[in-house]
Amino acid sequence: MPTAFITGVTGQDGSFLAEQLIARGWRVVGLVRRSSSGSLWRLKGIIGKIDLVDGDLLDLGSMVDAIAECRPDHVYNLAAQSFVATSWRQPLLTGEITALGAARVFEAVRLAWPTARVYQAGSSEMFGSSEQSSQNERTPFYPRSPYGVAKVYAHHLAVNYRESHGMYVVAGILFNHESERRGSEFVTRKIAIAVAEIKAGRQDTLLLGNIDVRRDWGFAGDYTEAMFAMLQADTPRDYVVATGKSWSVRDFAERAFAVANLEMSDHTQHDPSLLRPADIQSLCGDASCAQKDLGWTPTVSFDQLVERMVEAELAKDSA
Ligand code: NAP
Repeated sequence: MPTAFITGVTGQDGSFLAEQLIARGWRVVGLVRRSSSGSLWRLKGIIGKIDLVDGDLLDLGSMVDAIAECRPDHVYNLAAQSFVATSWRQPLLTGEITALGAARVFEAVRLAWPTARVYQAGSSEMFGSSEQSSQNERTPFYPRSPYGVAKVYAHHLAVNYRESHGMYVVAGILFNHESERRGSEFVTRKIAIAVAEIKAGRQDTLLLGNIDVRRDWGFAGDYTEAMFAMLQADTPRDYVVATGKSWSVRDFAERAFAVANLEMSDHTQHDPSLLRPADIQSLCGDASCAQKDLGWTPTVSFDQLVERMVEAELAKDSA
């Protein structure tokens, strides 16, 4: 039975990827860092079908041991300090986990099981203030946050492990992808939760920062399929994964309130404290290489994504 090792398995993408791999008949080993409160809620559908091992991206020895023990065919490095706003408040920790953590994963694979195929979770945040209206694999990086900078380091290192050590390492450049499992600090989930709270009469107002920023938003479950497809390809190469359409935070919020028959303007206020030291005005990806080489296309539209996320929050009240 083929084996996949996933760092960040307790996160949004890790949980979708683990489910999809198990459904394909793979053995999945997930790395879980020690926490006093636990963070396994996203894995509740597959507990018992997945092997969990202790380890931390800050601790090289734990990574080497975990990979040596499970001898994976695929390694997915999804673990990161993944929230841009936190990266401004904790830039060093973000670098330790998101940049050097990736280096520890590549080193652990090189030392313990170099035949594994490795996926590195790169981000559209690496493009930052790109001058191009649509970004593809040849677009220069111009990160605008400590998170984006850390991801650029990890991206270039992935390319270097491939070219210098002859390892099968690919870096996905994934644009924003969301779901009902997104962390509640991210704006899309924050909006979906607030809509349900306001509908239930437990909250009056949703505070939002810059609602004119535009992002290319897709469904997380589609994007984890692209990760698998990248590691199945004969030749390792890096791919942009995106829908090719960009929408503003305002677009998301208007649709989210409409799902609950509410008016966004009645329930939202601007909060300048939520503005970031530097923002990226617009991101929109060109995934034509992934479509051509991997046959990958998104299956969930923007409207369907918003509806899915809000319906999931509303359903918690009727459950
Ligand atoms: P997420 O929900 O924030 O999950 C992050 C995961 O990393 C969690 O499982 C977390 O574990 C783990 N982690 C954090 N620090 C760790 C450490 N020191 N050692 C071991 N594990 C650690 O992120 P996501 O949305 O699933 O995204 C997956 C990856 O794709 C991330 O690298 C993210 O930066 C990248 N990415 C995401 C998007 C997006 O739109 N979602 C777009 C582009 C790239 P705990 O549960 O213990 O916190």
